Amino acid sequence: MLLLDCPWCGKRDQTEFSYGGEAHIDRPIKPVEKSDSDWGQYVFFRANPKGYHRERWMHAQGCRRWFNLMRHTVTNEIKGSYKPGETFPPVSPKENQND
Ligand SMILES: [Zn+2]
Repeated sequence: MLLLDCPWCGKRDQTEFSYGGEAHIDRPIKPVEKSDSDWGQYVFFRANPKGYHRERWMHAQGCRRWFNLMRHTVTNEIKGSYKPGETFPPVSPKENQND
């Protein structure tokens, strides 16, 4: 079981949240101007790290707000959560190693 820390409500059980995929993906402003290749890249390709990953979550059974958090994909350790538009300290390459 994961305890996710909603920036507005505090720590809650994972079952109250909906996963929203990788964070910090910029939506194209004018999708019709994108090439098929660029559009395919935007729609289908995401990072799949073995290490820390920035993710979007929505507190579906709480405040219903979106936020970001940084979670280790192997250990499920959560470094912290932050509101959209806020920055979070980057993870050093050494810290992102899984071994
Ligand atoms: Zn909340």
